[in-house]
Amino acid sequence: MSSGCPHCFAGEIETVLSGSSRSLQCKRCGGRFNEPPGSTDSLYDADYFERNYNPRRELQMLQARDDARLLRQYGAGEPILDYGCGAGVFPETLLAEGYRDIYCADVSRDALDIVERRLGDRVKTVDLHRGSLPDMRFETICLMDSISHIPRAEAVLGELVSEHLVEGGVLLIRTPDVKDSYFRLAQLFRPLIGTRRFTKLTFANARYVLFNRTNIRWLLERLRCEIVFETETQELLPHPTSLSPVHLARHLFLRAMQTQLPTMRILTRKQEEH
Ligand SMILES: [Zn+2]
Repeated sequence: MSSGCPHCFAGEIETVLSGSSRSLQCKRCGGRFNEPPGSTDSLYDADYFERNYNPRRELQMLQARDDARLLRQYGAGEPILDYGCGAGVFPETLLAEGYRDIYCADVSRDALDIVERRLGDRVKTVDLHRGSLPDMRFETICLMDSISHIPRAEAVLGELVSEHLVEGGVLLIRTPDVKDSYFRLAQLFRPLIGTRRFTKLTFANARYVLFNRTNIRWLLERLRCEIVFETETQELLPHPTSLSPVHLARHLFLRAMQTQLPTMRILTRKQEEH
């Protein structure tokens, strides 16, 4: 295992879960990643969005509305780029929040078809599979649950910030907050919940890298993005020492119902060059 940590590039790597796809963890920053990384090509077809987005759309809208308001609250300007827009839940709430100059970018043609069908010409779409972003800078760039799906996330994010975000512009990231305790508990209950559910709970499918608060902070510092707001992660799990079966049952139930995810939202501002 010589590839090194894709988060901090410096840590020693250990295997934490083995199976058809190994889940690896960096001892230094706690970042997780999968090897081999799942292929995303087959994942983001119409069926993927049908299964993962449409049934949960209302729920996602509620969450997305909070995120759109957060942008307003911190004076995030336009144009806005939603990088990895998926089925367009977030852009829809941006429209509701009064934003008008919105770019929706995704690698999935099927996702963009859904966006175009739902939002028409009220947003602009960018097919990242066929072309690249327009040669322009945005006041605001958002990656809502997309960064962990991106191969070479650091390089992609770096280019977005350096080439496509104005000085002082806002970068908003929403991504799972991966805690050790969470994985340890999921592992504990693996025999009960089965491998398939376990894979889903531990984000082992369809994600390249999993961040935590430590390594995403390091990444943002490297990109000169200053954190101005971050949410407390919803603490669904008590500290492992105080764990009771009732707590865990509740947690797994909520996760199985897909009503709550250990998610962090971080709003940053690109620092001006001196
Ligand atoms: Zn690391």
